[in-house]
Amino acid sequence: MRLVLVGPPGAGKGTQAEFIAERFGIPKISTGDIFRANVSGGTELGKLAKQYMDAGDLVPDKVTIAMVRDRLGEPDASAGFLLDGFPRNVAQAYELDSILGDLGSILDVVLELEVDSEEVVRRLSGRRTCRKCGHIWHIEYDPTKAQNICDKCGGELFQRDDDKAETVRHRLDVYAEQTSPLIEFYSGRGQLVVVDAIGPVEDVTERAINALVEATDAAEAALAVEAAQDSAS
Ligand code: AMP
Repeated sequence: MRLVLVGPPGAGKGTQAEFIAERFGIPKISTGDIFRANVSGGTELGKLAKQYMDAGDLVPDKVTIAMVRDRLGEPDASAGFLLDGFPRNVAQAYELDSILGDLGSILDVVLELEVDSEEVVRRLSGRRTCRKCGHIWHIEYDPTKAQNICDKCGGELFQRDDDKAETVRHRLDVYAEQTSPLIEFYSGRGQLVVVDAIGPVEDVTERAINALVEATDAAEAALAVEAAQDSAS
């Protein structure tokens, strides 16, 4: 399964990506996670990416595409992968085609997690991360017992710079302008599957997995019909 996950910031892509990747036994490749690891590691890539990330802007395509090309070339991605956060614009989508073409493979399906922007602002601006163990809490949906103290390890909670209300609004504008055209792009190619991402995490996971199984079964059935027609002619 070669899968791309799209949806606005706060749609729950990271969380769902973990479950979906595990279910299909494929690596989850998140460009946001790779950038964040580089920021924490103080690498040159991290230093460059940080200024864009903090402002809620996209890291330049050239840098992001080279990073994804390297990652998809690693052995664990050869039998399938789940891309979370890439492509983020139509130019990156064409580059993904070219990377996969060079690797001799194609994309199977694009899963869109659908959520309205009011819910996104509520989800992201209430999100708090533990400095010590990295666990993510939510002031409204998943609050800690004591304010700003992690229930799991006693660490201090903080708000990611890019989760602050003003930056969230900017990230949503960036999504609307640059990323949402991908929905039409992939739907025009018949590769898009849309899932309602409002509701309990487990329900969204179940909807997503069912939709993916259905989409891949349908694609396999279409290929079998094509092969049968070819051999009959
Ligand atoms: P995410 O965790 O996917 O929301 O990504 C966090 C930040 O990383 C984004 O706001 C961008 O600054 C950067 N980023 C992640 N993926 C990409 C991408 N495909 N293209 C450009 N920037 C990206």
